[in-house]
Amino acid sequence: MTTRPLLIIGGGISGITAAVEAAEAGMEVILVEKQPYLGGRVARLSRYFPKLCPPQCGLEINYRRIRNSRNIHILTSSTVDKISGTKGNFTVRIERSAQYVNNLCTACGECPAVCPVERPDEFYYGTRRTKAIFIPDEITVPFRYTIDGDVCLKAGCAECLSVCKYQAIDLYAQPETITREISGVILATGWKPYDAGRIPELGFGSGDRIVTNVMLERLPVREFIVSLLPARSSPVIAFAQCTGSRDRNHLPYCSGICCGTTLKQALMIREQLPESRIKIFFIDLRVQGRNEDVLTRVLADPNIELIKGKMAGARIQHNDGLVEIEAEDILNGRKIRTTVDLLVLATGMVPEQVGLDQVRTLDNGYIDRDSLPDGFFAVGNALHPADVPTSVKEATAAALKGLQVVRSTPPHPLPIRGGATGIGI
Ligand SMILES: Cc1cc2nc3c(=O)[nH]c(=O)nc-3n(C[C@H](O)[C@H](O)[C@H](O)COP(=O)(O)OP(=O)(O)OC[C@H]3O[C@@H](n4cnc5c(N)ncnc54)[C@H](O)[C@@H]3O)c2cc1C
Repeated sequence: MTTRPLLIIGGGISGITAAVEAAEAGMEVILVEKQPYLGGRVARLSRYFPKLCPPQCGLEINYRRIRNSRNIHILTSSTVDKISGTKGNFTVRIERSAQYVNNLCTACGECPAVCPVERPDEFYYGTRRTKAIFIPDEITVPFRYTIDGDVCLKAGCAECLSVCKYQAIDLYAQPETITREISGVILATGWKPYDAGRIPELGFGSGDRIVTNVMLERLPVREFIVSLLPARSSPVIAFAQCTGSRDRNHLPYCSGICCGTTLKQALMIREQLPESRIKIFFIDLRVQGRNEDVLTRVLADPNIELIKGKMAGARIQHNDGLVEIEAEDILNGRKIRTTVDLLVLATGMVPEQVGLDQVRTLDNGYIDRDSLPDGFFAVGNALHPADVPTSVKEATAAALKGLQVVRSTPPHPLPIRGGATGIGI
């Protein structure tokens, strides 16, 4: 006899936190993540505010807790197709994509060396390319190669198979459908960046010198900026706050995180490129709590200029490749037209869609918490734009709610461990 597990959808910091807290309180957990790795958007950050430490700090400790727990069953490259039933007695149908690389992979690195096919690296927001068989990042969990079936199978070369000594690759692998009885559901599906291409006046996509804030998290800042401007000794980098946010034509809400993010990124650039100058164009600067420390550090730096005014336009100049920007300077009652070496668009955050019948959304696309059925909980950026500490707090609270559901459910006669489903990392 066993209790039905708790289902967590989304393996970002919110989902991972809910999973480890629930598991360590004795609950069985199934963690479903659509990407081939855990960590969500945090795994793709360069540093965390407020302390500016690498995101591995926060993730690694959770990965260790996952490894030490027998209660967490992880399904990466998977999505939830359907949930039926009621609180305590749900049935979930999970779709898992074909697992072309299995647990025998040791990440030895032989396969990408022979793979002839390249693809844009989505983990790096397209700022570089990978082979069709790749590991998203050195801190990826599970740490094994994965194959982009769409590009690999079209090429049809199978070179990776010939060099794999561990029988870890199966190019004939098929997707599978997994059905499980569960007691409750935590939705931790997070966010994605607003598409900067939808604001053509800011020039995104017209050249390398206009990037978004998420791209900047993955770029080797110093090398990238220096490579753009070998001739300029004192590069100027501008940030356009509220790219898409607080704009009724795009996202009517404040994404909450972008001000703190820009201040963090400005400090990172200044640290890595001490000769640089930064101009931040903002509507309002919204940072609170411990994140104000980052603002204090920015204010103390004479090479960072904060200009209250929205950026109206940006375009790459044909003659020298610099970015010409136009913006308001409200406090000085003037318009600014100048050139910068790099423009960073601080794009807003958009909720990922869950796609389940039980989940309704508000007008802004975030989950309508009040309409969720009993036994469903939503946390972190599935509910609203939130920083990591807020997401972690909400996830911990949801684990407690999940515990209450599991404890109030009668034991289930079927074992949930084992089977040929590939559950586990
Ligand atoms: C540029 C930028 C920099 C930032 N820097 C910081 C910082 O320094 N400090 C800080 O505190 N915060 C920062 N943030 C905010 C931080 O990224 C979020 O707080 C954090 O990502 C929230 O985690 P989450 O788990 O709620 O969502 P996510 O990180 O989005 O994770 C959600 C997970 O769910 C998965 N998923 C989505 N849909 C499905 C589905 N249908 N089925 C299965 N899986 C699914 C996704 O693949 C993802 O892995 C930054 C944000 C931006 C935009």
